[in-house]
Amino acid sequence: MTHICEIAQLGNPILRRPAEIITDINSSETQDIIKALQDTLASTQGVGIAAPQISLSKQIIIIASRPSARYPNAPLMTPTVMINPSFQALSNEKEKDWEGCLSIPGIRALVPRYKNILVSYSDTNGILVETKFEGFVARIFQHEFDHLNSKVYLDSVEDNQDIFSESEYFKLINT
Ligand code: ZN
Repeated sequence: MTHICEIAQLGNPILRRPAEIITDINSSETQDIIKALQDTLASTQGVGIAAPQISLSKQIIIIASRPSARYPNAPLMTPTVMINPSFQALSNEKEKDWEGCLSIPGIRALVPRYKNILVSYSDTNGILVETKFEGFVARIFQHEFDHLNSKVYLDSVEDNQDIFSESEYFKLINT
């Protein structure tokens, strides 16, 4: 059975609440949240999702880079569930690129993010995983990680002129 949830929209206080650490990865409650996140993400054109976006204040995200109409240049990867994720930057180097968010429809903005990061998380079996991400996938991770820490990507925009309507964004990238 698929379980597609409503996506919390900007202004909903759940997006501004720090998410709780998961202590019981094998519990049916946690496994149900993972399934709901997977089903909800699969029903969208998004490349990532965080549990607070389906109104569950828990530290679970999915990263699922894939090319789409929303992100035509995204690399293809197996969707990865990350529980209690953390990261450190491998260098201070940041780059600005476009982001959007399922919780903020119709908007795109340029956001500075670390280019190379070292990520730690527990997988769905509770195994601790450490891996390096770069570029667009590192960007998605940092975007979803922010959702667990009461931030949205617009908080990281450096200049209001870097915020575009989606229609103007598509004009820009198609020229
Ligand atoms: Zn988002």
